Amino acid sequence: MSDNCIFCKIARGEIPCRKVYEDDELLAFHDINPVAPVHFMLVPKLHLASLMEADESHSVLLGKMLLLASRLAKEQGLDNGFRTVINTGKAGGQEVFHLHIHIIGGGNIPPMVKRS
Ligand code: AMP
Ligand code: ZN
Repeated sequence: MSDNCIFCKIARGEIPCRKVYEDDELLAFHDINPVAPVHFMLVPKLHLASLMEADESHSVLLGKMLLLASRLAKEQGLDNGFRTVINTGKAGGQEVFHLHIHIIGGGNIPPMVKRS
């Protein structure tokens, strides 16, 4: 846990969220500024600033996150697919420095990478 981290504060219940899922290790909640009809994020309760800070000791946790992302996406009605995004570091567009997976879907999701 990190004192000044907004997602740690959400995980501690100090800042409200629209919860999707919670267990001992993980929390999922709707994004406050959604980019699609369904947009929530999945975070570990453990404070990890980004994927760059993850190491071998986090492999089970990271595996759980990916499997849970898929399960929750389906539970949120995204049966036909969804996008997962992990912005990593300033150069990766990350704004909140607590590892999170965005799960996005339910609308027209354009290709992420366009090739000519
Ligand atoms: P990123 O750019 O990957 O770091 O994404 C940060 C995301 O956190 C953005 O999509 C924000 O809309 C979202 N966000 C920031 N504060 C909150 C909050 N209090 N509750 C839910 N989502 C938030
Ligand atoms: Zn944190």
